[in-house]
Amino acid sequence: MAQLILATNNKNKLREIREILADTDLTVVSQSEAGIFLDVDETGTTFAENAKLKAEAIFAEMQARGMAGWVLADDSGLSVDALNGEPGVYSHRWAGENATDADRCAKMLDAMKDVPDGQRGAHFACVMCLIAPDGQAHLFEGRVEGEILREARGSNGFGYDPVFGYQGRSFAEVPAEEKNAVSHRRNALVQAAAWLRDASASH
Ligand code: IMP
Repeated sequence: MAQLILATNNKNKLREIREILADTDLTVVSQSEAGIFLDVDETGTTFAENAKLKAEAIFAEMQARGMAGWVLADDSGLSVDALNGEPGVYSHRWAGENATDADRCAKMLDAMKDVPDGQRGAHFACVMCLIAPDGQAHLFEGRVEGEILREARGSNGFGYDPVFGYQGRSFAEVPAEEKNAVSHRRNALVQAAAWLRDASASH
């Protein structure tokens, strides 16, 4: 049975990815479960570049150890129309290296305070980079569209969820299962999984 190594140790991402790939013959393991301890610098300027950097670093490490298999890495963030796509790949660092989610949301509300209704569009994006055992990289992008609210609402989720308005509620007011069914991550993952299902049969 082929192995797919996920370039994260995040338990939520791991569970979600295992669920979606349950009907394939791949065994999904986190990088630490595979004994790989790498912390890759996200130096790219696009989600695709960062996802690829992470996936390629793990793949190189696997090759150095003579391990075969698939690698999946993701990068994600929030892009705001009125801020020319910012914070984008800098979503995590935008309010400073040691900032909390509350700091990130507060900075977003402040940056958007003078932007009128109707111009507050934003989307979360996620790019998944899948590397096949032959070393070929494949990219899949998922998005979810919404708008930046005027105040933080709700306590579910993480990151910018309290200030991201989606169909009348903030993403932090939407139950986790509901968010996970429509999220940028789910969207990218479903595309990657569909591709994998076909391709893993022939590898
Ligand atoms: P990463 O791809 O896990 O490194 O995420 C980058 C950053 O984007 C996170 O630290 C969050 O600030 C933001 N982000 C990504 N996805 C979400 C989401 O689903 N909700 C809220 N914030 C998110």
